[in-house]
Amino acid sequence: MALATDRQKVGAVGVRHRVLVADGLGEAGLRRLRESCEVQVFGGLSEEELCARLEGVHALVVRSRTRVTRRALEAGRDLRVVARAGVGVDNIDVEAATRAGVLVINTPDSSVRATAEHTLAMLLACCRNLPQAYQSLQRGEWSREAFVGTEVYGKTLGVVGLGRIGSEVARLARGVGMRVLAYDPYVSAERAAHLGSELVPFERLLEEADFITLHVPLSAQTRGMIGRDQLRRMKRGVRLVNCARGGLVDEEALLEALEEGHVAGAALDVFAEEPPRDLRLVRHPRVVATPHLGASTREAQEAIGVDVAEQVLQALAGRLPRGAVNVAAFRGDAWERLSPHLELGRVLGALLRQLSPGPVYAVEVRLEGELSHVEPSPLVASVLVGLLSGVTDQVVNVVNAHLLASERGIRVVESRQETSEDFASLMVVTAHTPSGDFQLGGTLFGRSEPRIVRIGHYRIDLDPAPYMLFAWNTDRPGMIGRVGTILGRHGVNIAGMHLGRESPGGVAVMVLTLDDPVPPDAVAEIRSLDGIYDVKVARL
Ligand code: NAD
Repeated sequence: MALATDRQKVGAVGVRHRVLVADGLGEAGLRRLRESCEVQVFGGLSEEELCARLEGVHALVVRSRTRVTRRALEAGRDLRVVARAGVGVDNIDVEAATRAGVLVINTPDSSVRATAEHTLAMLLACCRNLPQAYQSLQRGEWSREAFVGTEVYGKTLGVVGLGRIGSEVARLARGVGMRVLAYDPYVSAERAAHLGSELVPFERLLEEADFITLHVPLSAQTRGMIGRDQLRRMKRGVRLVNCARGGLVDEEALLEALEEGHVAGAALDVFAEEPPRDLRLVRHPRVVATPHLGASTREAQEAIGVDVAEQVLQALAGRLPRGAVNVAAFRGDAWERLSPHLELGRVLGALLRQLSPGPVYAVEVRLEGELSHVEPSPLVASVLVGLLSGVTDQVVNVVNAHLLASERGIRVVESRQETSEDFASLMVVTAHTPSGDFQLGGTLFGRSEPRIVRIGHYRIDLDPAPYMLFAWNTDRPGMIGRVGTILGRHGVNIAGMHLGRESPGGVAVMVLTLDDPVPPDAVAEIRSLDGIYDVKVARL
């Protein structure tokens, strides 16, 4: 795909591009940039200084220190790319950059090996009591019985989240003779098997693993995913490693489980609050702790520098680098025309993720009617954006969605049909999961507003809302009232109601659009109602 920003003309062939490196960069990366660009390096700049120095600059490279504000983007009139050496882009106003046609890139891959190695180091340190034994020796003791360890060979490691780092950890664990169980609802069993691991449900992983390591992003779904119930489900004597994000583990519950002796040890690189003010976990005699060092290796820092340099050069040459965070590539008319369709695709993908009966291993996108004449690639990508958003730590957009899906082993099939039965244009998306297929259809109302018109084999006319509840139920009087009463009791206001049914008295699907999120207790109550087959909540 070629970049098509109106800033592309700046710095035409033969002109040396100017690159401003605001927070320093690894030497190898700087060398790579200097081969073809004029490079200025600073060790951190205020907004004022940055604005003043952006005149005539084509690429800006930052770490987390320099803030790239709207003002800075406006000041950098020749700017075509802002590169973040690292992952998080919260110090960059990505929306303002997109609007200005400035490509934002990051380097999500460079710290994978470092963090995976740290995970293994932490597991081994925890199993062999390395820090405790070292401290004892420093005190002048020679205590060998107190530090008898546990071998990892032949043991079962449970990897939660089989993304970039989890996959590398699985590989390393196989290398030291461990059996690997993996839980990741967005990865196929084939991909897990390819890594020598077995994809299993979360509960089974908790119950069977001798050691458990977390590699998921922090999101509304994953926050506190290791709480009291999950710790209790684990084997007595389990060891827990967290080199992902602090909020994934309920620290109070972990402390209790360590004190009871249910959890034999924990290895923590990350904390709910960093640096942690509450040091009870860090000081616990069976905890190994490091100050968020996962990615801190010389090699990772060098790799980040080279990666940033390569990507900046690609972007300046008009190509699209793999770390593209925003979608500056689709600016202008093409973006205006496509954007309602992309939003429809995103909504359909997000609903597929939340309503499908199991982990999605393949997605089919069929474009019917007028849509069959639109370039399919961004539309299919927009479905993948909805499907994968929030499940990976990486920003998912139409630029990288295909790649991220293929990395997860999700097959993507697109097809086109010139005619559509009931609509001028229709997008039909089907998720294939081990528990069966699930289909949704959507169209645009007034050519701009997404409408869901099919849920499975039901026809419906649903104006999607930020909070929705889907209930499959026996079509008989009083069902809607009973569901409404439960929601009312939990303080959830119903904004709209939609019904899809095949025949009176059969199974119907009821969709309620809501003003507030539905608490899990309310979902459980609705699920237990007589005549309700299934309940799902979705958040857009
Ligand atoms: P990734 O996006 O490549 O992988 C995350 C995986 O988690 C994906 O495969 C996704 O499908 C899966 N996932 C999402 N929700 C899930 C859920 N509810 N249950 C199970 N699996 C789920 O991310 P990554 O680059 O491998 O990073 C993993 C974690 O490591 C992130 O939290 C990241 O912030 C953290 N990290 C820490 C350090 C450090 O210094 N300690 C360095 C880099 C990354």
